[in-house]
Amino acid sequence: MTRQDADMLELVNFVAGRRVSGTGPGTVLRDPLSGEPLARADSTGLDLPGAYAWARQHGGAALRALSYAERAALLARVAEVLQANRDKYYEIALRNAGTVRQDSAIDIEGGIYTLSYYAKLGAKLEGQAFRPDGEQVSLARDDAYAVRHIAVPARGLALLINAFNFPSWGLWEKAAPALLSGVPVVAKPATATAWLAHEMVADLLAAQVLPEGALSLVCGASAGLLDALAPGDVLSFTGSADTAALLRAHPRVARDALRMNAETDSLNCALLGPDAAAGGAAFDALVHEAVREITVKSGQKCTAIRRILVPQAAYQRMADAIASRLAAVTVGNPRNADVRMGSLVGRAQHDDVQAGIQALRAGSQVLFDGGQVRLLDADPAVAACVAPWLLGSPDPDNHPLAHDREVFGPLATLMPYRDAAHAYALARRGQGSLVASVYSDDSAFLARSALELADSHGRVHLVSPEAARTHTGHGNVMPQSLHGGPGRAGGGEELGGLRALALYHRRAAIQGAPARLRGLADAAGAT
Ligand code: NAP
Repeated sequence: MTRQDADMLELVNFVAGRRVSGTGPGTVLRDPLSGEPLARADSTGLDLPGAYAWARQHGGAALRALSYAERAALLARVAEVLQANRDKYYEIALRNAGTVRQDSAIDIEGGIYTLSYYAKLGAKLEGQAFRPDGEQVSLARDDAYAVRHIAVPARGLALLINAFNFPSWGLWEKAAPALLSGVPVVAKPATATAWLAHEMVADLLAAQVLPEGALSLVCGASAGLLDALAPGDVLSFTGSADTAALLRAHPRVARDALRMNAETDSLNCALLGPDAAAGGAAFDALVHEAVREITVKSGQKCTAIRRILVPQAAYQRMADAIASRLAAVTVGNPRNADVRMGSLVGRAQHDDVQAGIQALRAGSQVLFDGGQVRLLDADPAVAACVAPWLLGSPDPDNHPLAHDREVFGPLATLMPYRDAAHAYALARRGQGSLVASVYSDDSAFLARSALELADSHGRVHLVSPEAARTHTGHGNVMPQSLHGGPGRAGGGEELGGLRALALYHRRAAIQGAPARLRGLADAAGAT
């Protein structure tokens, strides 16, 4: 170990009520602009079975002893602690993720907002031990026997494995519904950007706002994380489809039927209605949104627009409009006030994105060439910066890669469609996506698109001219709305208000005489 390594910040693990260091060399986290080492994360040698048992026993019992409303109050305290420390989090995001302040806010403020939302939602919930599920139904002709469905908090823990692009939001959008449900959390942030999640958890543990065992953190390699899971635990994963496939094949999931939720890759699309081909407010709204989605967080968003579908007649006009807006985007060091788009998360990601761009541009037109953009205050040989690209695929039926390869960076591909049926067919070539957005002033087209796309997209985002200013954004995940998508997108469901609690509850049918079933509510203090 060099002197520099020895002086480096260590991201410790918070398990079994203690701060535990790894026993291996660990992985170094770097500033993506300079390559400077920032911190070291290591989970080698952790007693994960012991850590999990401790979380289940202490955290689970303490959380289940509280009512839903009391647990909601805990979430409000968590949000307060994070709010009080937010300046520090922006500094960490700048150094570790290379994001401009606006992009860091999506992660940091998005996490705090989601916590606050679940705190408010949970405050209105009654009861402690279960949530009712539907009406009681008679099972006997004389009504002397009936069934009632209830959902009770899982008695295990929630292992939350997150992707590198949202170290804050990714943690809290999962942890908020888990904790509100009464399930203790073990969080495993992606190593490359684990510093922010580590700092947040360290602040919360120092503030002692959560019961002991409710929140644990493992930083560094993932070896053994799934081996230590047990029946009753829940696994919630966000990351690539390849990693999700590996986890699904793990014996705890494949053989023991452990519940797993997966949020993975997505080739999301934006669709311009035929009525907007000649321009106008809906056309402009798509241009605005496409540029925003390509550039926000340098395109490192699972929900980003990757494919833009427009009527054939609008292809060139749309290409010119987006390209001219992209030409005005300044790219480089986020410490420079003139920079609008910072860097990717690291050099490995940079190389992966560059390889993806080269692969997709074979067989595409280059409508805006990010390779020609000069970086501000950043050395292209060192910094993980990639300027925005717009490719065009005039024959999208015969460009399979454009529907299949998710380049996790600032790139989208423009595609012309013949008619609405063709547009929907192209949208479905994404094999299941998180979100599709539709831009039109034609109510019938908007409604038909919603119904056509809903089975293959977790969210359909309609943008008509009167909503152009106030809509929440194609790529923004609102806790009120479902997040997830079928097929390629992982097949999972998160958020969507109280729907998110279902993952952390077990549903059971309780059969008995009606008078006895009424006792359930009395026993649990629920109505
Ligand atoms: P990744 O390489 O799949 O890693 C995701 C997480 O899994 C990381 O915490 C990683 O830890 C961990 N991991 C890797 N191998 C594992 C294993 N064998 N067992 C247990 N955990 C393991 O994905 P990423 O590169 O961080 O994120 C980019 C991808 O995530 C993109 O494809 C993007 O579309 C997707 N994403 C999806 C959503 C969504 O909501 N649908 C949101 C954000 C991102 P290490 O970092 O330590 O390797």
